[in-house]
Amino acid sequence: MTVPSTALEVHLASRPTGFPTPDDFALVEAPVPTPGPGQLLVRNTFMSVDPYMRGRMNDAKSYVPPFALGAVLEGGAVGEVLVSDVPGIAVGDTVAHFAGWREYAVVGDAVKVDPEVAPVSTALGVLGMPGLTAYAGLLDVAAFREGDTVFVSGAAGAVGQVAGQVARLRGAKRVIGSAGSAEKVAYLVEELGFDAAFDYHDGDVRDLLAAAAPEGVDVYFDNTGGPQLEAALASANLYARFALCGAISNYNTDQPAGPRNLSLAVGKRVTLRGFLVRDHEHLRPAFEREVGGWVRDGSLRHRETITTGGLANAPAAFIGMLRGENIGKALVAL
Ligand code: NAP
Repeated sequence: MTVPSTALEVHLASRPTGFPTPDDFALVEAPVPTPGPGQLLVRNTFMSVDPYMRGRMNDAKSYVPPFALGAVLEGGAVGEVLVSDVPGIAVGDTVAHFAGWREYAVVGDAVKVDPEVAPVSTALGVLGMPGLTAYAGLLDVAAFREGDTVFVSGAAGAVGQVAGQVARLRGAKRVIGSAGSAEKVAYLVEELGFDAAFDYHDGDVRDLLAAAAPEGVDVYFDNTGGPQLEAALASANLYARFALCGAISNYNTDQPAGPRNLSLAVGKRVTLRGFLVRDHEHLRPAFEREVGGWVRDGSLRHRETITTGGLANAPAAFIGMLRGENIGKALVAL
């Protein structure tokens, strides 16, 4: 394949306040870099749009540095190797790496993806970072045990769809999910086998959860923070364990909503534990064996929402994901 001399990449044009808009991104034609020793040239085929990228658009100290203004964004991607100076990786291989938001990438750090095992896009979703997040958050962080009643917010998204099903397949007594539309609620119950699900827009979340979990909640997998964390505290059983994975309800506002009832954690002896997936790499082999097996035998199902039309549509895909337009993993096909 001939490599063009220039290709498209997406830059951060301005730092958003509230929800990002298309004007916060710039589609830029830039020279395709030449790989050096120990590097690959990759033609990206899929890139991931993830909630944490919203945090990196702010100029704020966090666990990852902010994106630089006027520079190319980054994030998970998979692609085809066009040039390789990396032992064990050949031209034509597919790799996963971290130089998304561009059509062609030069990378040193990449992991081979076997297209025979599963479609390569799954390396960014159910079999990649979001899947491992779900597995680690449920089993390691929340210390899930057979017989637990589990509540997952953001349950129809990339992480949530896996977290709820791992709980079901590992013997949860009851799995409850919340999501933002009737279509997502139907997906959770009818396709993924959740015992109950509700649309968090349909009333006071504390009432919706109490009705769905009449015997209370032992484990809460928190993707949203805010009102749903408050509801989970209200429904928590004694010694409940909460895995604080993310707080997307607070990402696009300067008026974050807290749980107003945090003091309930005292009397109920609730453990609330935040985590980052990168601290749980030791679980990857078990995750790949167990979740990979369930995906292959069909007992764990998943969806991807793939935006087509190339890199120009990546900002819209990202904004759409933040607004809840995705079911399952949000991806862009390049
Ligand atoms: P996702 O769920 O696939 O997509 C984001 C979803 O958030 C949207 O589809 C939308 O679904 C929901 N959402 C948006 N605004 C909301 C609001 N105000 N209240 C409730 N839900 C809202 O994203 P993901 O990749 O699976 O990530 C899920 C969470 O996990 C995020 O908080 C993310 O930051 C976190 N995460 C953490 C780690 C870690 O290492 N700790 C790793 C990966 C992801 P609805 O239609 O349901 O609203």
